[in-house]
Amino acid sequence: MTGMTMDAAVGAYLFVLGLVLGSFYNVVGLRLPRGESVVYPPSSCGSCGMSLRARHLVPVFSYIATCGRCAGCRTKISPLYPAGELATGLMFIWVYGLHGYTEGLLTGLLLVSLSVMVTVADLKYMLIPNKLLLLFLAPLAAAVSLTSELPIWNHALGALAGGAVLLLIVIVSGGGMGMGDVKLFTLLGLVLGLPLVFLALIMACLAGTVIGGALLLTGRIQRKQPVPFGPFLAIGALAAYGYGTAIIEWYITLFM
Ligand SMILES: [Zn+2]
Repeated sequence: MTGMTMDAAVGAYLFVLGLVLGSFYNVVGLRLPRGESVVYPPSSCGSCGMSLRARHLVPVFSYIATCGRCAGCRTKISPLYPAGELATGLMFIWVYGLHGYTEGLLTGLLLVSLSVMVTVADLKYMLIPNKLLLLFLAPLAAAVSLTSELPIWNHALGALAGGAVLLLIVIVSGGGMGMGDVKLFTLLGLVLGLPLVFLALIMACLAGTVIGGALLLTGRIQRKQPVPFGPFLAIGALAAYGYGTAIIEWYITLFM
């Protein structure tokens, strides 16, 4: 195989892997906060209880094939499911595009996986489960220590800075954000290190302003309605992870 077809083959493999894992991440994000098993029982329709047989579990495609409805009772299935699957698949390809088939790929795939599960849990329950963060702590710390070009103390400071800044925001704002966000951003700070953790926070606030503003303008949310911030922290971290160094270099050239 030439380099190009090899790349396409790995990319296609990672996309399908992302769709399948994304389907599992949905289940984890929905069940972990309620203390339910993530493997048993198999997914079923929330309305009629019909268990989703294998052919209904093909990510994204089964949703399209059934027009987004349960095959048993035709109840609408949340578009969040195929969205989570598709997002995981696309972001797996994105990470591969950033790193190629190198060890740096591992950190990116873990970061995407954590982000999807946090987003599902936080959107559904306004909650980021401790278990989820603990589950990712060891693999992310290992991946970072094995592949990062920065010294370990930089990542430790990133974790400290991320946690401290968010804790300050929680104290000052008095609500809106919670301790789950503080813990999440401590973990994201560990992955990003300095100075990217600060850029991630700026991007998270930008994303929150743009997306929150759009939802407000279109009447999808009310003015005083609390909005989960975990998904925005994840978006900010992913953006900083993928493009942070380039953004900082571009920003510096503005002043040179
Ligand atoms: Zn049903």
